Amino acid sequence: MTMIAVKGNQLIGNTESGSDSASFEAFNPKDGQPLPVSFFEATSQQIDAAIQLAEKAFPAYKGKTNEQRAEFLEQIAEEILLLGDTLIKRAMLETALPEGRLTGERGRTMNQLKLFASVVREGSWVDARIDRAIPDRAPVPRQDIRQMLQPLGPVGIFGASNFPLAFSVAGGDTASALATGCTVVVKGHPAHPGTSELVGKAILEAARKTKMPEGVFSLVQGRTNEVGAHIVKHPLIQAVGFTGSFKGGKALFDMANQRPVSIPVFAEMGSVNPVFVLPEALSQRGVAIGQGLAASLTLGVGQFCTCPGLIFLPDSAGKEDLQAGLATAIREGIAGTMLTSGIRKAFTAGIKVFKNNLNFEMLAVGKTDETANSVSAHVFGVPYQQFKENPSFSEEVFGPSGLLVYTDSKEQLMAAAGNLEGHLTATIHGTPTDLQNHSNLLDILERKVGRLIINGYPTGVEVCHAMVHGGPFPATTAPQTTSVGTNAIKRFARPVCYQSFPNSHLPPALKEENPLKIWRLTNGEWAK
Ligand code: NAP
Repeated sequence: MTMIAVKGNQLIGNTESGSDSASFEAFNPKDGQPLPVSFFEATSQQIDAAIQLAEKAFPAYKGKTNEQRAEFLEQIAEEILLLGDTLIKRAMLETALPEGRLTGERGRTMNQLKLFASVVREGSWVDARIDRAIPDRAPVPRQDIRQMLQPLGPVGIFGASNFPLAFSVAGGDTASALATGCTVVVKGHPAHPGTSELVGKAILEAARKTKMPEGVFSLVQGRTNEVGAHIVKHPLIQAVGFTGSFKGGKALFDMANQRPVSIPVFAEMGSVNPVFVLPEALSQRGVAIGQGLAASLTLGVGQFCTCPGLIFLPDSAGKEDLQAGLATAIREGIAGTMLTSGIRKAFTAGIKVFKNNLNFEMLAVGKTDETANSVSAHVFGVPYQQFKENPSFSEEVFGPSGLLVYTDSKEQLMAAAGNLEGHLTATIHGTPTDLQNHSNLLDILERKVGRLIINGYPTGVEVCHAMVHGGPFPATTAPQTTSVGTNAIKRFARPVCYQSFPNSHLPPALKEENPLKIWRLTNGEWAK
């Protein structure tokens, strides 16, 4: 097993670099105490050096074969595993997440890297399109026109606090950007800087072993907004990937649009993941739906962007069953320790808004443990009319909380759906008859979210080819994309067209003889 120590440095290409600038510490969320090792705040010179290196490395990295890029991604997965207990222990200290969750998340992170490696190796993701020349076409001949996706260049990635491995330094954004052929500068999340540094070193070790150019990856850390802002504003950065709060994502999005040359920001900013329980399902399985909701909204102390925060149900038979199933499970459970004191404070403030409102019925409060950032799960109920009068009740309270909204007619249920903003997911619990009687609901929700779920729960985002983890604003700033699943690779590429090119100068994916043996749309027909 490799023993790699956390030193608190920036990883600028192959150079580990400290500085005499301000430093910060990570805190143990369980006792609020600082953890060993101080981390340097990246200076503007260091950030600039990382981005310059990423630009320099880009042509060489883009020029690597699909096989070489795939091997690099697979090697990153291996190096992360080689960090062994050192990584898991540090991540436990920095996040208070249990060992089982973190080893599971490590597996997910490795599988994600390997899945992107398989996509790169297969090669068809570049969406090659070929329209051969028609020299004798009248009245004007057609030129030979070919198109494929090409990587954007150096990109900036922000690690998320709630998935210290799977959405952080070597998470889905980094994996998909490296798979595309982009070079990457990561801004680590200040809540888990030691975890970030360890994973950053694993990526650099993989780059060394697979002979990738220096600058293909860098990690800069800091706990001030300046570090992230410097990356987003840097003229050489071509795109940004982010998972976190609406406030943070929107600030970065606005920053990117105010640059002299604006760039895309793929920000996933969370959601309340509305659930609609339809009448027949409610009367038949109220208790079970309530128990399932309790399990889903307390999973990971509710710190998932897919946590079901808003539940619409008719004020009809089965309502008390659902309330009882949900409330009993909530009262019996210990929610646990939140990731940071800031996240706990935001949760407590959000809960207070509900508690202080007389229209809200407090259905259940869970237990807490003795740790510093512990919170208890909360579930409230409110009639639709009161809910409707205050749009702020539909805002995300990040953490283990849920709001039941009682509707008194089908029209009210439909109106509730129609008034929703963009979300990551929407869930419907319904029998076949319910679904038939509410077919419009599906049409409405299809326009509101990235993923629709029937008779399930929104937490648990499978990493696969068909997954969409995205949705209309304000869930994300780029509704046409996903941040989970293999389609995420397309975020960091753009189509380039090659007209009348000699075969010798075409990229391999577009050459006449199809040397990569990929699927291509040739004269309107898909073929290898
Ligand atoms: P955050 O505040 O959005 O921060 C995420 C990252 O973005 C951090 O590295 C942060 O750096 C950076 N950042 C934020 N605002 C910035 C700005 N104006 N300029 C430059 N950089 C900026 O998220 P968080 O710290 O993880 O948690 C805070 C809240 O975010 C939670 O309470 C929750 O509501 C939400 N959240 C949502 C999701 C989701 O799934 N979408 C995930 C986690 C958290 P600095 O720390 O240096 O500012």
